Amino acid sequence: MAFENVNEFDFEDRMMTPEYSPEADAEVENPLRPKVLGEYIGQEKVKENLAVFIEAARQRKESLDHVLLYGPPGLGKTTLAGIIANELGVNLRITSGPAIEKPGDLAALLTNLNPGDVLFIDEIHRLARSVEEILYPAMEDFAIDIITGKGQMAASYHLPLPRFTLVGATTRAGQLTAPLRDRFGVVLRLEMYNPKELAQIVTRSAGILGIPIEADGALELASRSRGTPRIANRLLKRVRDFAQIMSNGVITYATAKLALDRLEIDELGLDANDRRILFTMIQYYNGGPVGLDTLAAAVGEESVTIEDVYEPYLMQIGFLSRTPRGRCATRSAYLHLGLTPPGESSPDQTKLY
Ligand code: ADP
Repeated sequence: MAFENVNEFDFEDRMMTPEYSPEADAEVENPLRPKVLGEYIGQEKVKENLAVFIEAARQRKESLDHVLLYGPPGLGKTTLAGIIANELGVNLRITSGPAIEKPGDLAALLTNLNPGDVLFIDEIHRLARSVEEILYPAMEDFAIDIITGKGQMAASYHLPLPRFTLVGATTRAGQLTAPLRDRFGVVLRLEMYNPKELAQIVTRSAGILGIPIEADGALELASRSRGTPRIANRLLKRVRDFAQIMSNGVITYATAKLALDRLEIDELGLDANDRRILFTMIQYYNGGPVGLDTLAAAVGEESVTIEDVYEPYLMQIGFLSRTPRGRCATRSAYLHLGLTPPGESSPDQTKLY
């Protein structure tokens, strides 16, 4: 692919981003969410540990200790929170760090919980400091102190809360304050899925949506889904359209390959945006090191999006490395893009001699 094409890529194309969107969730993801641990594919270590903690809490008739889930978006954190609540036979309340603006918002949420309920706070690293401070005693002592009024009119109320389980999710465990992190009894890291596990997820989802799919079609789709179930499910929907028009609705290896090629998702799951990031690093910064903010400005993206959405997979497949001086494109990235790594002679040049 030529450098001249770099600027034609458009970051509006969100097909391959693993971020959550309420519309997509209502439309496709909800029915696909596993409801019990047995249906949750992969993440074996996490599942084994959780199964023990859930069973122990159930036997003691206690609430489960607070759980922190961390890992890149789309790997199944929200799903796991739902499973925890379901397995414990309690209600799940879902909110997110940025949605809780004031301490009063959190107080309202907490005082409405029933004993044992699971409160899921997504993006917990984005909680306001004033809200976080209310959360400490809530998590530790199951009580909150609320101050109303100002000056001489100020009054403080001590509100006991039912025992509840907080499940916090974050893409960046490093950004959590130490006091908050320390109050989670269970800390679990979700890993990217391998193609075999993703193929199982795709096959399960296809079954639920009534889409006929062959085993090697599922594997082809899985291996281009960047280790992320949310992307695998999204691609399944798109590939179904191609299959419907081109091969009697059945997703075969050939239809999966053709559809993904047409969607410009390469055999490693990289889309135009990934390639644009790598090309920019190589073309304008000699492959790096380049600072995150500089790179973000050059490709017209938010730094956090590069860090949370694009980088984890590019690092996982060894195309990008983080150094103290900035991000670098690796030799494999050059080769994948058909470019000559620095200090090596290109195949064409070799031919000349
Ligand atoms: P996160 O909260 O980490 O962003 P979600 O829990 O919303 O991710 O998962 C995204 C989608 O991927 C879910 O709708 C679910 O259908 C699917 N999914 C995630 N993990 C699994 C899994 N282990 N097994 C099957 N499907 C999964």
